[in-house]
Amino acid sequence: MLIGGLQKTSLIDYPGKVACTVFTIGCNFFCPFCHNKDLVSWANFKNSSLAVVKEKDFFDFLSKRGGILDGVCITGGEPTIQPGLMQFCQKIKKLGFLVKLDTNGGRPRVVKELIKKRLVDFIAMDIKVDKKNYSLLTKISYEKIAQSLVLIITSGLEYQLRTTLVPTIHNKKNIAILAKEIAVVATKNKINPESLVWHLQKFLPQNCLKAEFDQFLPFSSQELNCLLTAAQSIIPQVDADF
Ligand code: SF4
Repeated sequence: MLIGGLQKTSLIDYPGKVACTVFTIGCNFFCPFCHNKDLVSWANFKNSSLAVVKEKDFFDFLSKRGGILDGVCITGGEPTIQPGLMQFCQKIKKLGFLVKLDTNGGRPRVVKELIKKRLVDFIAMDIKVDKKNYSLLTKISYEKIAQSLVLIITSGLEYQLRTTLVPTIHNKKNIAILAKEIAVVATKNKINPESLVWHLQKFLPQNCLKAEFDQFLPFSSQELNCLLTAAQSIIPQVDADF
């Protein structure tokens, strides 16, 4: 595992739990609005002020956190591209901690294996935009995103789907389309769309992968609520942090 950061305590990264958060280096997407740009590639990481955290040091830390932390949130970058992820999760579970995975859904094979081997307890997956516009953001085929979506919502695990609302990318129309696409996938897989857990969050223009995104004004409260209403017209229980 290539670890580029460790937040020793977080009250927000793992819903309802006290966790530490591990940041992995490298991502298979290069979303222009990403504000973890130092973590998306080794080249960016090397040019940043961040330092590698040795796996041994992480486990030394974690082994002293029994009774203090409930779990570990593994985020990135994109954790599923790390060759040692299975063993890493296994070691965390052996120490008695819960594991939450944050993923972009681009590697369904890995998501499937983690679920099958019961190595994760909670999965948060980004659903970036509707199917038609996915290829504008990443080179990953939408089929992979759809596969991960099905795996996660049918896994029986706690999960959260997340969409960051970005000016120039999202609008009322494509958010409604995205909501319909998610609802259709759920229905096809015998999941009631009204049971889906989907969270909308506000884009903040800072330290973005593509510098021009730093110049964008975030959506106003009125615009955000308009997008939330569009999503809720299809999936009423969608929530937001704005
Ligand atoms: S936003 Fe997430 S998926 Fe996109 S490049 Fe950044 S870390 Fe990767």
